Amino acid sequence: MARRPAEQIAAVDPERCTGCGYCELACPHDTIVMDGCQARILEACTACWVCLRQCPVAALSRAARTREAERQAMPRSARPSG
Ligand code: SF4
Ligand code: SF4
Repeated sequence: MARRPAEQIAAVDPERCTGCGYCELACPHDTIVMDGCQARILEACTACWVCLRQCPVAALSRAARTREAERQAMPRSARPSG
C-alpha cells in the first residue's frame, strides 16, 4: 500500500453522518469514536481511508490536515467515555 501523505486526515460530514458506527468498527487504527450520534475522527488518523469505503452514506472524506481539520479532530485524551 502506498504511504499516505502525512498532510491528510479523514473528515466527517455532520449533516450526513447517521451515527451507524460502521466506520468505528472498520478503522484498523482505532482512530474513530462515536460521540453521541456522530462519528469523530481522532487526530491520530493515519489516512488509510478504510473508513471511506465503509460509510453507507458517504459522510467520510479525505481532508487536508489543516488547522481547522486538526481542531475538529479529537485528541485521544478527549475520547468520549462509554
Ligand atoms: S482514514 Fe484510516 S485511520 Fe483514519 S479514521 Fe479512517 S480508517 Fe481510521
Ligand atoms: S459509517 Fe458514516 S454514517 Fe456511519 S457513523 Fe461512520 S461516518 Fe457516520
